[in-house]
Amino acid sequence: MSIDTINTEPATSPADARTRNVLIVGVGGQGVIMISKVLALLCQTQGLQVKQSEVHGMAKRGGVVFSHVRFGPEVWSPTIPMGEADVLIAMEWAEGVRWLPFLRPDTGVFIADTQQVIPPFACRNREFFATPAYATETTAEIIGQVSDGFALDAGRMAEELGNARAANTILLGTLSASLDFPLQEWLSVLSQFVPKGTEEINRQAFLLGREWVEKTREEPDGAVALAPAPAQPEARPKIDVRLEITREWCKSCDICVKLCPERCLELDEQQIVRLKDPDACTGCRICEWLCPDFAIAVHHESRDAATESGKTA
Ligand code: SF4
Ligand code: SF4
Repeated sequence: MSIDTINTEPATSPADARTRNVLIVGVGGQGVIMISKVLALLCQTQGLQVKQSEVHGMAKRGGVVFSHVRFGPEVWSPTIPMGEADVLIAMEWAEGVRWLPFLRPDTGVFIADTQQVIPPFACRNREFFATPAYATETTAEIIGQVSDGFALDAGRMAEELGNARAANTILLGTLSASLDFPLQEWLSVLSQFVPKGTEEINRQAFLLGREWVEKTREEPDGAVALAPAPAQPEARPKIDVRLEITREWCKSCDICVKLCPERCLELDEQQIVRLKDPDACTGCRICEWLCPDFAIAVHHESRDAATESGKTA
């Protein structure tokens, strides 16, 4: 656990008199800490005192990561008590469900990505289509329990925007719609945290998330609830598996190679992952879930489509 305290002159506005609490949760590789640091620096630039505490899980996808950010004129404890988070922002669905008791029951804002990162050990049967042990609550059930709730597929929105890795920035944009800081200040601080050359795509992702919340608030039915998981049909479908490997994003960490249950991956002569045994791959998606750099995407294609295109890696 690490605790960072940023002391500045306290704000004096009565409107800012109460300490605000934002809890950011997710799993390794999703950008929880980035969101927390942007928020902390933004508060600092606004003359508020900030305390930030965080716990990192495994430094790879799958390990739990959470960060408490508390800000106000004067902040004492670095951790948010149960039931006192003004905003709970979850970058992974089950983590959002798990931390729900920390949200203020009367006024708390719940924002969750419907993305599921299923821990490998929750996959009792690693065959494709096996049912993992995972949160069974639907978005409709959870949104119905909170005062103000939003569930969105930030990963898909980021893909449609042109950069799958901008999902965390979309979520940061959704967070901004629930906190009273000027838009230009958010954008200015964000630009200091994103990789050089990605400022524009991250600006667009931020605005997309922010505008999605604003638009959703105007809709009569409130939050858009997307089902986190499709209903499981009774029979296993006939599918072929296609692994899409983005070589430029692979950093040769070897995690997928070591944890593929079928041992069908390897690093090539340039230390980039490749599928060495396509016939052994079951399409379980563990490599995709665990890759910290989004370098593998597992596609399930119907047998008919695959017959036309052939199985590729
Ligand atoms: S390559 Fe990936 S999808 Fe295929 S069996 Fe291994 S972990 Fe599962
Ligand atoms: S594909 Fe991902 S998990 Fe596999 S070696 Fe490359 S970076 Fe590591």
